[in-house]
Amino acid sequence: MTGIATKTNLLGQSRAQLERFFAEWGEKPFRARQMLQWIYQRGVVDFDAMTDLSRALRERLQAETEIRPPGVMSEHRSIDGTVKWIMALPGGSAVETVYIPEPDRGTLCISSQVGCMLNCTFCSTATQGFNRNLDAAEIIGQVWRATEALGAERRITNIVLMGMGEPLLNLDQVRPALELMRDDLAYGLAARRVTVSTAGVVPGIDALADGPGVALAVSLHAPTDELRSRLVPLNRKYPIDELLAACKRYLSEKRPKQSVTFEYTMIDGVNDAPEHARKLLKVLAHVPSKINLIPFNPFPGTPFECSPMSRIQQFQEILRAGGMIATVRKTRGDDIDAACGQLVGKVLSAGTRRALVQQQLARQALA
Ligand code: SAH
Repeated sequence: MTGIATKTNLLGQSRAQLERFFAEWGEKPFRARQMLQWIYQRGVVDFDAMTDLSRALRERLQAETEIRPPGVMSEHRSIDGTVKWIMALPGGSAVETVYIPEPDRGTLCISSQVGCMLNCTFCSTATQGFNRNLDAAEIIGQVWRATEALGAERRITNIVLMGMGEPLLNLDQVRPALELMRDDLAYGLAARRVTVSTAGVVPGIDALADGPGVALAVSLHAPTDELRSRLVPLNRKYPIDELLAACKRYLSEKRPKQSVTFEYTMIDGVNDAPEHARKLLKVLAHVPSKINLIPFNPFPGTPFECSPMSRIQQFQEILRAGGMIATVRKTRGDDIDAACGQLVGKVLSAGTRRALVQQQLARQALA
């Protein structure tokens, strides 16, 4: 604590939380509904503009609360239309948010933590280590800022928690943000249009089943525990069979898309052989699945390389021949370092360089 009285940030509070807040002030629950519409549908954060609230209430809100989204430190536009924002957070840290326009939709990729503690050996976010969890205001605030920056013509139709961090290790703060993405009075997105991606935190998947319905994506990257543990160290704690059992439990409770999307980053000579594809078919045989193959995106200092496109296509063919829905994710925004696994949020520090050396060692151990 700083000792300075801080105002309550109303941003990031779910409908239920806002109703409780206003109830404590002796206000009716519909105040919460009005507040949601002002903040998220009209993008208004100035209490004076909230003309359907009484003057006395506006004055009290002004004195004791605030609506504070993260600041935009910089904006980068790719030649392919992708936009990346570096969002400034209190304390000097930063996270990245990416907008990916496609003809039929606009996807916003948001971060849930500053850095990450999972140390996946092929991800640049891992090189910066873990700094802290984002709070709910900082998570939904990325959507608020992106909506403001994009203006009216470009709509956010889908949100994916695939930016920096592991959302299921920050579920307390992620949950109200998900509720706001789904809430008709806030962003009002359908369950299948909000995706939480996890490296495989099994208790988190079970806990997510209690929250608002969202689609589940799981970063698999390997069909055997032996290989997966080397790419995603969390696998030592939650091996593949436990992870897939949790996916099945999730689907039986939520099933927004009737299937789980498995992300599989294609790394040259590591996990991209036909044998890996055949094993993957067997492993996923009993889980309703889709596979999204992600061409590995390089970043400074990484020892890994992307599989050649011909091998990615061959891998996809084997999966398809086995009856699996398999797509190849188009690399977007790589000219502005906005592609999967390229998000670092701040410039290289000494710690980052140390972590890159550790990755190099890990790569040698794999070879
Ligand atoms: N921690 C969560 C959310 C991050 S999502 C998770 O692991 O799912 C980011 C996705 O991009 C994950 O599937 C991740 O494995 C993948 N990824 C990470 N580094 C990458 C890289 N260099 N190239 C391609 N994909 C990468």
